[in-house]
Amino acid sequence: MTNDCTVRMKRRAMGCEFELVLCGRNREHLVDAANEAFEELVRLEEQMSVFIPTSEISYINASAAEGPVRVEPRLFDLLRTAARLSRETDGAFDVSAGPLVKLWGFSNNSDDFTIPSEDEIGEIVKRVGMSHVEFDEKESTIRFDSPGVELDLGAIGKGYAVREMVSLLHERGVAAGLVSGGPSTVYAMASPPDDDAWTVGIRSPVNRADRITTVRLKNQALSTSGGHERFVEADGRRYGHVIDPRTGHPAHGLLAASAVTSDPTRSDALSTAFLVLGVEKTREYCRAHDDVRAILVPAYEPGSGANVVRIGFEQ
Ligand code: AMP
Ligand code: MG
Repeated sequence: MTNDCTVRMKRRAMGCEFELVLCGRNREHLVDAANEAFEELVRLEEQMSVFIPTSEISYINASAAEGPVRVEPRLFDLLRTAARLSRETDGAFDVSAGPLVKLWGFSNNSDDFTIPSEDEIGEIVKRVGMSHVEFDEKESTIRFDSPGVELDLGAIGKGYAVREMVSLLHERGVAAGLVSGGPSTVYAMASPPDDDAWTVGIRSPVNRADRITTVRLKNQALSTSGGHERFVEADGRRYGHVIDPRTGHPAHGLLAASAVTSDPTRSDALSTAFLVLGVEKTREYCRAHDDVRAILVPAYEPGSGANVVRIGFEQ
């Protein structure tokens, strides 16, 4: 006789609510594993958040223009991965977009927002780009080539945290469950006891109560990015929190972009990149990387309804 059980636990971190749904035989064991995974999450937030002045990333931002800064090995690997993803997406995803995120007012909660001038944007864009970040593999150090360069892991950190939590849960013998970092990234471990995959919904970027579609996931991650999640408003227009690092302007054209692949770090970075790249460039990316699928919601006229573009799925 089996006594399958499921535990569901939540923890606030990285500006959202992380949730674990873990399936197994022993409730106490699942709860212990979940608590350990949350401890790991807190450690990662303390290391990676630009909102925490004592975080390692804040230290790097404050010091790396003065000289090489030694970086903890796992964070160093993450930054190398981020640099590779930036190259792969033609710079649409770029963790050095930090100064642009600040310029557009997404690094504070202030209400008085004015649209930056083209001159201001042009000045800041010069400081953005992974070419400003030099890696020394042997020493595990990085340095910035000039002052004013800043890293912001907001587009990859939650996915990375999900990945680290999943690997800890695997080590603790948890085989099945869902690990999610807010609505941004979810990883499906194996499948639920009564099905051969997890069914995960993607919410409408317009009306959060509606689902635009569902995806079946097994040992796969789904990440979603959208300007609707955080935005500033001026002159009756909304400016979303994902910025095209090449132009310095908020991404437009898509209301939401989702990426599905096996590694949650990568799906998180790619959903952000796809929001910037738009439909055709995302198609090109998925053609070149057949382990990645995408679901895009192009902007539409009020009243005409959402059109959902699925790339890499059998329709
Ligand atoms: P996400 O919700 O994963 O798309 O991440 C969005 C967050 O990443 C923003 O709030 C910024 O902190 C940061 N960000 C904005 N634009 C970019 C970009 N093009 N590449 C990398 N990070 C970005
Ligand atoms: Mg992202």
